[in-house]
Amino acid sequence: MAAPLPTNAKRRRAVAAELDRAADACARQGALLTELRRSVLGLILEAEGPLTAYRLLDRLRETRKRAVPPTVYRALDFLLEHRLIHKLERLNAFVSCAETGREHPVQFLICRQCGGVTEIEDRAAANALEHAAERQGFHPRNAVVEIEGTCAACFQPTGT
Ligand SMILES: [Zn+2]
Ligand SMILES: [Zn+2]
Repeated sequence: MAAPLPTNAKRRRAVAAELDRAADACARQGALLTELRRSVLGLILEAEGPLTAYRLLDRLRETRKRAVPPTVYRALDFLLEHRLIHKLERLNAFVSCAETGREHPVQFLICRQCGGVTEIEDRAAANALEHAAERQGFHPRNAVVEIEGTCAACFQPTGT
């Protein structure tokens, strides 16, 4: 590995701080962020974008040679259950959650050009969906909305 740049050091500190917050969030929920779970969450936090379970496994094996798919899946289940990450069904991939353990409405904006994913938290949109479901006599439990399109940076206005 190359010598870490100052920006990398800064980023590592930010990830470490986020991991400490996650450990606290787990403790409040009576759970333990084990070293393995911490490693998996750390990889997700360090990633530039969403990571699939297999990409995670590859990265995890750099430090834990014996890691197998169930190792990763169990850790991911734990992190999902304790609201430290989100799963993007459309991409079958995982991203960290900025809210660290707090339950919140979530919508994702997925850019088809750069692959960037932005998490937004629009309570009104979530309520509207919940009410629409309830009008059908449906009891919603979990609603993650994934919106595909083009992000502001990639968007090229056509015409003129
Ligand atoms: Zn979130
Ligand atoms: Zn984009």
